[in-house]
Amino acid sequence: MRRCVKCKGEAAVHLKSKNASFCGEHFVEHFLNQVERAIKKFKMLSPGERVLVAVSGGKDSLALWDALLSLGYEAEGVHVDLGLGDYSAGSREACQEFARRRGAKLYLFSVVETYGVSMREITARNRRATCSVCGTVKRYLMNRLVQETGHRVVATGHNLDDEAAALFGNLLGWQEGYLARQYPYLPPSHPGFPARIKPLVRLSEFETRTYCQLRGLGYLGDGCPLAKGASSLFYKELLNSLEERMPGSKLRFLFGFLEEGRSRFADVPVELKECEICGQPTTASTCLFCRLMQRAGLDPLTRPQVRQVV
Ligand code: AMP
Ligand code: ZN
Ligand code: ZN
Repeated sequence: MRRCVKCKGEAAVHLKSKNASFCGEHFVEHFLNQVERAIKKFKMLSPGERVLVAVSGGKDSLALWDALLSLGYEAEGVHVDLGLGDYSAGSREACQEFARRRGAKLYLFSVVETYGVSMREITARNRRATCSVCGTVKRYLMNRLVQETGHRVVATGHNLDDEAAALFGNLLGWQEGYLARQYPYLPPSHPGFPARIKPLVRLSEFETRTYCQLRGLGYLGDGCPLAKGASSLFYKELLNSLEERMPGSKLRFLFGFLEEGRSRFADVPVELKECEICGQPTTASTCLFCRLMQRAGLDPLTRPQVRQVV
């Protein structure tokens, strides 16, 4: 029988990457410590600070929201309803249920209410990787929201597996610009825009799933239907095979880069102009968001519909 490294009681979880076992209570403590450690190391938040959590209804962002509240941060949520049938209905319900249970505030953006079409349509009308289109729209919506709510920081649930896979992809194509910007804390790109943080950067998918189970958080298990076949999923499989043979390699790969490698791709200062259409900072004459919207035959200046639902 494995024993908890903290209390020597019967272990409920074994982490091969750290060669350590925990009982339920001490695993939750370990998880919160890892979140707090990332927040301190990358100077993400000051104690008790207000933060807006982008919640998809999946395990990572709900674990993050729960952890931030448990650590005493004033964490509010925002969910983007992509209009993808049962998947989106289930995602929204998981976010609302959590907000009600924890007595936290939740904002909702509906892509269909705002643009009249679902995210499936918007991505189909653009010839670009689906997740990059969807990510650009979601970021735009977050930037708009904080101008109303006054949040300084937006947090996302990207975990160790996500970040290691992204790093692998960026290295594979030697994408220097992306490598320079891959960091768990990104300062505001423009006055009035939020900083972006990834407090789960030290925690694996296995750890966030286990945390949700132990804390009784109801999350939507299915991944986004639009992400099927995304190359990041394949990179995760590759890195998991590596991790299986060499436990701890994912954490070493990512943190080696963050601590030693990234500075070599140091941000080349880029000259930003204002987008001709919406005024957002951009390196081109029109920003990516406006170009995506136009290609989808939609008006980039449509005012996003947001409401507080909990
Ligand atoms: P993904 O790329 O789907 O793994 O999502 C990464 C992170 O983006 C999640 O952990 C959330 O913080 C955020 N996110 C993804 N989808 C949504 C959504 N529909 N609404 C709000 N935030 C989201
Ligand atoms: Zn214990
Ligand atoms: Zn624009």
